[in-house]
Formats: sequence, C-alpha cells, structure tokens
Amino acid sequence: MEILNKLKILTDAAKYDVCASSACSQSNWGSKGFGNMSRMGVCHSFTPDGRCISLFKVLLTNQCINDCLYCINRKSNDRLKTCFGERELADLFIQFYKRNYVEGLFLTSGIYKNSEETMERMIKVIEILRFEYQFRGYIHLKVLPGVSPGLINKGAVLANRMSINLECPTTNKLELICPEKDFKHDLIAPMLSMKKIIKNDKTKIPAGQTTQMIIGASGENDREIITTSAWLYQKVNLCRIYYSAFIPVNQASNLPVKEPVSLKRESRLYQADWLMRRYGFAFQELPFDQTGNLPLDFDPKMAWAILNLDKFPIEINKASYRALLRIPGIGEISARRIIKLRKDFHITSLEELKNIGVVLKRAVNFILIKGKYFGQASFNNKILPILGENSLLPNQNQEQLAFAL
Ligand code: SF4
Repeated sequence: MEILNKLKILTDAAKYDVCASSACSQSNWGSKGFGNMSRMGVCHSFTPDGRCISLFKVLLTNQCINDCLYCINRKSNDRLKTCFGERELADLFIQFYKRNYVEGLFLTSGIYKNSEETMERMIKVIEILRFEYQFRGYIHLKVLPGVSPGLINKGAVLANRMSINLECPTTNKLELICPEKDFKHDLIAPMLSMKKIIKNDKTKIPAGQTTQMIIGASGENDREIITTSAWLYQKVNLCRIYYSAFIPVNQASNLPVKEPVSLKRESRLYQADWLMRRYGFAFQELPFDQTGNLPLDFDPKMAWAILNLDKFPIEINKASYRALLRIPGIGEISARRIIKLRKDFHITSLEELKNIGVVLKRAVNFILIKGKYFGQASFNNKILPILGENSLLPNQNQEQLAFAL
C-alpha cells in the first residue's frame, strides 16, 4: 500500500485517542478557511511548561487482536487494515518535523499478534528517532494493555509522556465492552509500574503519565468515573485524565449504548476533575443526582455551592485563597488578583470585582463586599426546586476504591 494511503488510514484511526480536552479543539467557525485545529493527523497538547505544541498523532497499525466493542480498530470491524514499518514511520515523522508541520509525536497502536511484540516495534520507532536522528523533542508513547514492566521501563527512558487507556471505571464495566482486557492485570498494573518508575527516577517519563476513559460506552455513571479518577490521582499520581464522550463508530449490536454521549456530559466531568485537581475539592464533596450523574444544568461548583448555602455568603475582603476558589464565578486568576489587590486596598464594589475578571452573575449571590450583600433574596427559592432539594447527593460511595487497594 502507498505510504499516503497508510498515512490517511492510520492517522484517521488514531483520532479517537485524546490528549487534550475537547474544549480545546472545538470551533464555531466551520471547517473552511485556515487555522482549523485538525481532527486527524495533528493534535495539540500542552507541555509541562505550558506551551501548546502540535503532535503527529498516528497508529503504528490499525490491526488488532482484540474486539473492544466501541473501537473502530477492533478485530471484527470490516475495515482496511495496514501497518507502518518502524523505519518508514520514523522517516515520515522526521520529514514532517523538518518541514515544521509538527513539533512532536503521539504514537499509539492496535495490537498486532500480541501487546509485547507490538510495543517492541513502537519502541523501535522511537529508538530510531532518538538515537539515529537525535530527535530531542516531545514524544507521547501509548502503552498497550498487559505490557511487561521491562518494556515499560524501556519506553520510559525514551518518551516524555506515557499513557495507558483505562476506558472504563471498573472491572465490571470493562468486561461489558472490552471482554479480552483484564482491568487489574492489563491496565492498572502497567499504571503502577509507570508510577514506580517516575518515583524512582525523575528523568524517566518527565511529563508524567495520563489515561483516557470513554464516557458512556459501558452505561456507567459519573459517580463511578469520578470515584475512579480520584483514586487514580491519589494512588497512581496521574497528571491528567482525559474524558472522551462515546461516539458510535461501529455497528456493534451488543454495545450497551447506541447513541452518542453529549459533549455537555464530557464537559461536566472535566469541570469536576478540575475541581479535584486544582481547587482542592475532595471527590466526596462533588454533587451527583439520584442517577449518580453530575447535574447538566449547573456546573459542579455551582451545584456544590447550592448544596452548601450555609457556607455562604463569603466576605471577599477576608476569605482565604482556598475559600475564594469555592465561590462560583471566581477562578484561580481572579482569586489571585483579589488577594493581591487586598494587600493595598479594600474591595468596595461589584465593579471592582468585575474589572479583575470575576463573573458577577455567578458570584453575586455568594459574596459579601465589606459586609454588604448584593444578591437576590429569592435565589434559594428559585434554584432549589429546579434541582429538587434532595436530588443532589454528595459522593459518599468509596466502595469502588477497594478494587485496586
Ligand atoms: S485493544 Fe485498543 S485498538 Fe484494539 S480493539 Fe481494543 S481499544 Fe481498539
């Protein structure tokens, strides 16, 4: 097969592997013109120092021995299958790099024969880049399910970032859609190997490890996802978890879900994840409705604030940085600006808050400015009936955590 055809097939099939939230890649300006973020071939990712770089995202092969129901590359999917040679792919990447098309590589793959052999071949591609071409740029290497610690260690010397896709939050859910994969042995064990490598040698996998979960494909709820995410952040030290709303790309009749999952649900999960990682929220504090899902009508921080009205209103001139972050409409930047401003002045008006980036329509019901309340007294009456006073429950279910302890 001609290299251009391979390129088309193997970049198109790689687009479902996520390395940036969908919020970064959506555009309302249509697909024409220039400057569009490409959905295949090139993706964008952020380095630990905050730079946005373009990555050549490609599969080594779209052949796979597994039959994960949601996956376009699964064994029983009747599609054209192909494979790059290791040198062919390394040469191609270097040509793209030298022409400034891309700045780094995101290498993933289906499983050809077995995980071990395919991973060896992926590592070979990177060895050619690092040792023959002396490529020093960013490489994200996907780890295949069940790969041995020895091979993970080999990849860890070469790659900046590594990841293995968890896909589902629990063993039972994984069995439904990826019958050949063993949750603990094939997915959690490689994650723990990477954690150990990173802990013992800071030069290995310097940009850390991440994972991805497909949202909605196994009929799981958000509480299951967030509980597992919290465990992964606490116990495996993941630096990011990506949530990818399920898109039906197969005609698999035994999939528990047939319809695409809404991007709003995906976005709510990213918001809840952000609250845990950046705003100091414990996963037990996150609000779920009676189906175990995050409310769609309110972002999780607003829903938490509504459930915790006894903690409000908060005096803007006295609150700590952590307390400011709990106020809807105040983010990290505006909280830092408030703290800075307060060193020299008292904040006296809504206008001042607006000027430093506070979203007043969200914050106004939860704050005091020099003891004065500007919110609406009817707020509680308006909002609580919409949510259903008892329909939001803080997450107290820690039982799932037992799966890997
Ligand atoms: S192992 Fe990976 S590539 Fe193969 S079918 Fe499952 S998700 Fe797709």
